[in-house]
Amino acid sequence: MISGCSWGSNKKCLLRIYCSHIRSLLNYGCILYASASQRILSQLNTIQNEALRIAIGAFCISPVLSLHAESNFIPLQHHRNLQILKYYCKTLAIPGHINSYRMRLSTVIPGVSNIAQQLLEKYQITLEKPLSLGALRLQFSQLRFSIQDFLQQEWNRASTNFLRSLKPTLEDWSTSYLPNRQEERVLARIRIGHTLLTHCHLLQQSEPPLCDVCHTKIDVLHVLNFYRTQILWSLPISSL
Ligand SMILES: [Zn+2]
Repeated sequence: MISGCSWGSNKKCLLRIYCSHIRSLLNYGCILYASASQRILSQLNTIQNEALRIAIGAFCISPVLSLHAESNFIPLQHHRNLQILKYYCKTLAIPGHINSYRMRLSTVIPGVSNIAQQLLEKYQITLEKPLSLGALRLQFSQLRFSIQDFLQQEWNRASTNFLRSLKPTLEDWSTSYLPNRQEERVLARIRIGHTLLTHCHLLQQSEPPLCDVCHTKIDVLHVLNFYRTQILWSLPISSL
């Protein structure tokens, strides 16, 4: 174990470890298994979701959208799609070998060309024609930008997400990285809006906690608005 609730590696280190040791394995050969059923592929998504949850220190029932927004990570299926599109672009850009690659694509990896076409349509991407090796770097950055734009539009539609009200634009927040592991975890939970104090009842299958003063349901915003000076700072940090 390399990290706990109040000790160990911070979020940045944990995310780097995940990228280098786990996500690289998950995406290895993704061009080959891209045509698998969504039910099978979704099993891989849960691995990334759990890794992000651990790295952030998020509450166990926090929304998956919030996990990716807080960590500024591309969801695994979109990252996989990016790898497929990059591979497709490479096959188109190799001079003199386009036909042979297309033949291999249709025999060794059936359907990958069709999948790439569907992805280009999904993300509304138009490839440079003809695509040269020199233009690959620019094309790759355009692919990433288009996928990021797709995710931003998806984030814009998540109108009920608490984190979205704080972070309308998907980007990396330097303030979400703190040297103290416990403070980093507590801050992330408050931003996501899911804490032990406000959402523990879902796990215990009990009634939601009510405010002692106004008898309304307690959520993070309520605590911040009405208990900022009276209770918040007197709460033990372990209750968040
Ligand atoms: Zn109240």
